[in-house]
Amino acid sequence: MKYGLSLSETGAAEANVYISRVDGKDVLIADERAGFIGEPFIVSGEKKIKAELNHENACIMRKLFPFTAPVRVLGQNRTMGVGDRLGIATEGHIRVFEKAGDVFPVFAQQSIRELKLTGRTYEDVLDAVTFAVFKHGYTRGFGADGDHLKTPEEVQYALSCGYTMITLDCSDYIRNDINSMSDEEIDNEYVPDTQTEEYYSGRTFKIGEGKQLHFTLPELKRIMLIYGKAIDFICRIYDAFFAHGKNDADFEISIDETSTPTTPLQHYFVANELLRRGVNFATLAPRFCGEFQKGVDYIGDIAQFEREFGEHAAIARYFGYKLSIHSGSDKFSVFPIIGRLTRGVFHVKTAGTNWLEAMRVVAMKNAGFYRKVHKFALQVFDEAKKYYHVTTDLSKIPNVDALPDGELPLLFEQNDARQLIHITYGLILNEKNPDGSYVFKDEFFRIMDENRETYAERLEAHIGRHLETLLSEL
Ligand SMILES: [Zn+2]
Repeated sequence: MKYGLSLSETGAAEANVYISRVDGKDVLIADERAGFIGEPFIVSGEKKIKAELNHENACIMRKLFPFTAPVRVLGQNRTMGVGDRLGIATEGHIRVFEKAGDVFPVFAQQSIRELKLTGRTYEDVLDAVTFAVFKHGYTRGFGADGDHLKTPEEVQYALSCGYTMITLDCSDYIRNDINSMSDEEIDNEYVPDTQTEEYYSGRTFKIGEGKQLHFTLPELKRIMLIYGKAIDFICRIYDAFFAHGKNDADFEISIDETSTPTTPLQHYFVANELLRRGVNFATLAPRFCGEFQKGVDYIGDIAQFEREFGEHAAIARYFGYKLSIHSGSDKFSVFPIIGRLTRGVFHVKTAGTNWLEAMRVVAMKNAGFYRKVHKFALQVFDEAKKYYHVTTDLSKIPNVDALPDGELPLLFEQNDARQLIHITYGLILNEKNPDGSYVFKDEFFRIMDENRETYAERLEAHIGRHLETLLSEL
């Protein structure tokens, strides 16, 4: 099969470029003048280049075909991040967003934690998307998110790779210990700040829609102690990378990775302080009440979620940014609420669910290999828990040796099995034999390559269901 576009169709010089499968591997075939780096060969008297899908050629591709380069998308009302840890999911994602009307995707989205666990780089994550977008002719535009970045160096790295969105993770600067302190302990910690006290203390702030928020001095002191350092950190990063249009990228504030939910009062304070200090941001991710665990539905009181989420949505609307919902994989029971209460203005991030769908394909297509991976995941689960917060009960997962082959895919309907596979991805992919070869990785990718169509179909259905549910009450 040959895919691709000729340069003339995009208004550039006439030179054919397409991606073709040669010896079981995708390669670029192009006229020599397109400038790709590869091996020359002659076809019917014409000089062509056969080129690898590598970083050098991805950079050339993004210049020749601007639709293969990321753009800023957060300014759109509805956006969705679909993190692809494996670099093979974009084909399925394209099928969803090709027909998603006014919902725009962030195809390249990885956190530093994910890069470490998969041994990938930001270059490689974006390049995989660039080639997939070209191969399948997706021209609607997509974003690239340097997700959960914690240091100026990480922000610089993502921006230097052309990422169009930076998600700043402030969790290292948020003082969770304040929540459990007594008022007396708070008074000992607190450094008086008369200006901020005069602005907030004893005052009520109207946020429209008949809603208002009131600050008492004791509450204000707590909030300042919890978020003060985080706000300073955000201002430093903003001044260094975003102020005066330094970089053409959207800025997302993430305060979601904390041990307690963000109250609407805290959310208002953080946003208001940032705006008072001149920080422009596109999205903010609070931590919502209940549990947004990875790869499973919402855990908690849905009525309470609806009440508090309505306050958060109203605050975001009042200030003019979007709420960002992290760990958005599979939160089907609250998606209609999220869509309705944000009035269809949201950013939702998913990641792990794309990996889970890949492993579901493995379970469907190669039962023997799936069983091996599953048993390995059970062995390393405790180690994987260091990176992710989950409440998995391993005893509820059926024994894979007792399950018939045909029932293995059903494990992906069961939360404990989902979380087992979800959080062990890094350990599974990195496990090596004594001779240095990978125990699972190469075979895993071989199976996925053989079943590309099934994976794309699964993603189309599953991510498609995310979108449909989000938009169901609009
Ligand atoms: Zn997050």
